[in-house]
Amino acid sequence: MNAVCIKCWNPEAVVKMHLDGSGDFECAECEETFSCAEVKDCLKAMQERWGKLMKWVEAYPKD
Ligand SMILES: [Zn+2]
Repeated sequence: MNAVCIKCWNPEAVVKMHLDGSGDFECAECEETFSCAEVKDCLKAMQERWGKLMKWVEAYPKD
């Protein structure tokens, strides 16, 4: 399974997990590091935004 970097969102980027017990991730593409908690926050924020947009799309009248 290939994780996607939450900093550059490059689907080709290789995201490595630090094996020092920190549980941090490092992206080989943009060289950013981020934690599990950051991933969770990011996904939550995205889910909220998409959730709102999806509701709007579903409520949009189709003919
Ligand atoms: Zn990246």
